[in-house]
Amino acid sequence: MFDSGILTRGINVDGFRAEILEFTGAAACFLTSSATTALWVCLKHLGVGHGDEVIVSDFSFPATANVVEDLGATPVFADVSLDTFNMQPEVLESRITARTRAVIFVDSLGNPTGLTAIAEVCRKHGLPLIEDAACALGSSEGGRRCGSIADMTCFSFHPRKLLTTGEGGAVTLSSVDVDRVEWFSRKLNHGAGGLDGCSLDFVDYGYNFRLSEPQAVIGRAQLKKLESIITERNSIRTDYINRLHAYGFLPQVVGENVVFNCQSIVFRVPKKVARDVLIMRLRELGVETAIGTYCQSGTRYYRTRYHDVQLNSAELQNSTITFPCFTGVNVEEICGKVVDIVERSLV
Ligand SMILES: *Cc1c(COP(=O)(O)O)cnc(C)c1O
Repeated sequence: MFDSGILTRGINVDGFRAEILEFTGAAACFLTSSATTALWVCLKHLGVGHGDEVIVSDFSFPATANVVEDLGATPVFADVSLDTFNMQPEVLESRITARTRAVIFVDSLGNPTGLTAIAEVCRKHGLPLIEDAACALGSSEGGRRCGSIADMTCFSFHPRKLLTTGEGGAVTLSSVDVDRVEWFSRKLNHGAGGLDGCSLDFVDYGYNFRLSEPQAVIGRAQLKKLESIITERNSIRTDYINRLHAYGFLPQVVGENVVFNCQSIVFRVPKKVARDVLIMRLRELGVETAIGTYCQSGTRYYRTRYHDVQLNSAELQNSTITFPCFTGVNVEEICGKVVDIVERSLV
């Protein structure tokens, strides 16, 4: 790559794009600088702006709602299931109004359970479905991989995700639509439509939300290993479930027809356990854990602005814990420490 002298828009960017297209089974794919820019550009494509509402899964990293807010539209928070941590069809239906312009479903922590049912509700109401699959590369529901189900799907390659290019992301489309494909290609590359003689032909205005060649090289190497990493993570997850089940730790529920990429291995702690204290006690013992993710409607900004905090999502922010899942992690030792802390009522 360095010998070629081409550090952006070269053969590795093309190659990585084609490989993600094949891997996800999508109809089109574009690489972006992050999942946030990917989500933002999807809303832009739909023309979302002032006076519009976009219904978003509430339990997520706040980037999901931020893109809606940034475009001057209102994020309408849909509460999630305490089991799957995902948006539920009946809650979605209850939040639809005449102003609803789109829906953003989040595969919470990589879990796409319920996505197909949400797609059905969106189809019934004629609403475009954007999937925030930032954590869900490699996950599937009903035999279809994330990227091929929702109208538009956004992935992240941030260092916290299963596949990382440092920073980076992608958008996939589930159906071929020449106008849309051209729109995304142009907009992500300054509005350039191709060459006009020796010059770029700027047929539109646009942005630079591209992924670079060095990032694409890193991504391609990891994509080859992704399926084996997912298999390994699933066995780590099963190990945690078997060891912690008896003590009242509840795993994130995954549908029977779902392949979960185990981006994160998250449990709800037993009612009597103070989650923050558990995280701190484990840290003292050299085990790094974290909260699940955020109740967006309860963050200081959105709580103050909209006064619409969702209950299940708030409960999940306060009661979930993410356990280590790196290659070679000693699940037995970690669970031993967890059980010891819980049994001795140190939390
Ligand atoms: C990580 C994450 C994002 C942001 O991804 P970036 O690539 O850092 O922009 C958005 N949504 C969810 C659900 C995430 O987990």
